[in-house]
Amino acid sequence: MPNDVLEKYIRAGRIAARVREEMRRIVREGMPLIEICEIAEDMIRKLGGSPAFPCNVSVNEVAAHYTSPPKDTRVVPSGSLVKVDIGVHVDGYIADTATTICFNPEYENMVYAAERALEAAIKVIRPSVIISKVSSEIEAVIERYGFKPIYNLSGHEVGHYVIHAGKSIPNVSHLSIERMRPGGVYAIEPFVTLKGAAGRVEDGPEKYIFRLVKMKASLKSSEAKELLKAIETNFRTLPFAERWLNRIYGQNESYKRAFSELLSSKCLMAYPVFIEASGSPVAQAEHTVYVGEKDIIVLTA
Ligand code: MN
Ligand code: MN
Repeated sequence: MPNDVLEKYIRAGRIAARVREEMRRIVREGMPLIEICEIAEDMIRKLGGSPAFPCNVSVNEVAAHYTSPPKDTRVVPSGSLVKVDIGVHVDGYIADTATTICFNPEYENMVYAAERALEAAIKVIRPSVIISKVSSEIEAVIERYGFKPIYNLSGHEVGHYVIHAGKSIPNVSHLSIERMRPGGVYAIEPFVTLKGAAGRVEDGPEKYIFRLVKMKASLKSSEAKELLKAIETNFRTLPFAERWLNRIYGQNESYKRAFSELLSSKCLMAYPVFIEASGSPVAQAEHTVYVGEKDIIVLTA
């Protein structure tokens, strides 16, 4: 990887880590979720990065992909488990990191298991490591603590302006001889739930994160064409929140009809919120790691 590119990954990682730690400090029971999202995203911008995806604030059995819609009224419930997932990019080079903030002593061990699994996974990563070795490590640590990994959520390689690129890093052991590529950047993210839970996520009914998937379509309205152009200019192929359209359109909601047209014409895709299938609470920990020719760098440490 060219030095200037690695430099950008390192900058993105530093910003992401700082914002994650700041969120650990400020998130409280009763705090509006939209406030958490906006504080995190504003802080990323203030530190010289750009959000690589909307700040995810996923509570209890919601495993991932919740971000506040405009005018969200939800708050952090008391006794809950809150996963804050932060993405930062510098010129399209992405760092992805997450932490779980626990307001329920009953679930503290589960959060600990997620952190230990992430730590153990990072310890076995080296240039050209077999991916299934990393996965087996994650699963073994989670089970040693008496919990269960979510088997259908995975870590992933990141690419330029692409969050989920290349190879997946499953959280359970599997038969594959694929290796991590020297020069690759990988997000490792164990998700942990209770031993008696289903251990998988399902798509929930809500969708608050979107992404451009195709530019060319015979769009009916000029408003939709304009909105699509604005989305391409501002977010490229990275995920975005409807809240962010306010940054383009101000408080006026004239974009709403055009937005629906872009969704129905499949120019945009929507990410459903992921919910643990048996309704059990989920903990997550995540770091992004650069795998060099000789050693590795934990970009979000
Ligand atoms: Mn993430
Ligand atoms: Mn990720």
